[in-house]
Amino acid sequence: MSRCDVAIIGAGAAGMMCAIEAGRRGRSVRLIEHVKSPGEKIRISGGGRCNFTNLHATAANYISGNPHFMKSALKRYTQWDFIDWVDRKGIAWHEKTLGQLFCDGSARQIIDGLVGDLREAGVTLQLETGVTAHERTADGFALTLSDGSTLDCASLVIASGGKSIPKMGATGFGYDVAREYGIPLTETRPGLVPLTFDPDTLTRFKPLSGVSVPVRASHGKTQFDEALLFTHRGLSGPAILQISSYWREGESVDLNLHPELDWFETLRATRQENGRRALPTVLGESLPKRLVQLWVEEGLSTGNLADQSDRALRELSQKLAHWTVRPTGSEGYRTAEVTLGGVDTHALDSKTMQALSQPGLFFVGEVVDVTGWLGGYNFQWAWSSGWCAGQYA
Ligand SMILES: Cc1cc2nc3c(=O)[nH]c(=O)nc-3n(C[C@H](O)[C@H](O)[C@H](O)COP(=O)(O)OP(=O)(O)OC[C@H]3O[C@@H](n4cnc5c(N)ncnc54)[C@H](O)[C@@H]3O)c2cc1C
Repeated sequence: MSRCDVAIIGAGAAGMMCAIEAGRRGRSVRLIEHVKSPGEKIRISGGGRCNFTNLHATAANYISGNPHFMKSALKRYTQWDFIDWVDRKGIAWHEKTLGQLFCDGSARQIIDGLVGDLREAGVTLQLETGVTAHERTADGFALTLSDGSTLDCASLVIASGGKSIPKMGATGFGYDVAREYGIPLTETRPGLVPLTFDPDTLTRFKPLSGVSVPVRASHGKTQFDEALLFTHRGLSGPAILQISSYWREGESVDLNLHPELDWFETLRATRQENGRRALPTVLGESLPKRLVQLWVEEGLSTGNLADQSDRALRELSQKLAHWTVRPTGSEGYRTAEVTLGGVDTHALDSKTMQALSQPGLFFVGEVVDVTGWLGGYNFQWAWSSGWCAGQYA
């Protein structure tokens, strides 16, 4: 039987950050990971460049059953703290758009930096090892590992992530642990995920596969101004990934095509300048031609602008600003970037990430019911929550 102060399950972003901090406090730390390498999601994130944080990260960018829960952690370890860390590692970065920060080079630089810090902090990283059993003891927890060994620890940190991308090592382990210790969970579902259509709608939109258009995607009061992409399964692109975290099956999504345009004023002004231009031609200057072509096939007037009354232009503008689509489902955990829901934040201390009913048991990162928007917010939550738990575990 071996013993350590802190056992952390999962060497992703949150688990590594937590291990480094606990190790720096002089705690003996064992970081247990069941796949071959640490930080696999970091490696594939941001198209291989890791969108590691967002300049504008605040609690407003997160979805949770308790919208205040993440405030403390985000304040104690901020995006500026992580940017500082990136700078100290000499990793060059740039802002792509909307405050999203990416490595200039490769996401591997982030993993290498973290692994270097793990080493310096004296953390034992144990790869290709799972946990086959765990139980409470008088002074902590006893784990049985997949290599048959046992490990006693005073603090147990669950950093095993969510269910998204099972083929990369995602498991429901963290949720099972929570259940076993009587810690409540909120409903889990895929987030930041492409949405799918029924076969008839797919046939209708088939010619649009690969077409992209700027939209304002809305669901209730929540809206995102980003690109939409038609795919051979349905809809994707940042605007759809963002709204997918709010969308529920059976609901529709409202799309404002080119939200920066006042369509009625634009069309009316164009009619005044040159009324002999055909309506589809004019629309095709702002919108993808294949989309306009589809509408023509479905009855859009091919007449000149001069033939369009104010009322007709108003009706068309209204449709362009409120194009309603009704997805039938999502691509699920196979492609979802995150898992919504998870360990109920009401059961955790927001300062320490410790379970209120189970001293010594901590939950960090994606396994917790805190989900960020697309754009670096999810890694910031992993860094912030991991850092906080690392101060107390
Ligand atoms: C394709 C893709 C791209 C993404 N891009 C970005 C991005 O650019 N920016 C951003 O902010 N977010 C991005 N995300 C989301 C981000 O990757 C996650 O929010 C983040 O990785 C969560 O960190 P975590 O440490 O909580 O969990 P994870 O990174 O999932 O780490 C959990 C670790 O636990 C291990 N594990 C699981 N079960 C067990 C077990 N039973 N025993 C031992 N180990 C176990 C897993 O193998 C994994 O290594 C992306 C996600 C995906 C899927």
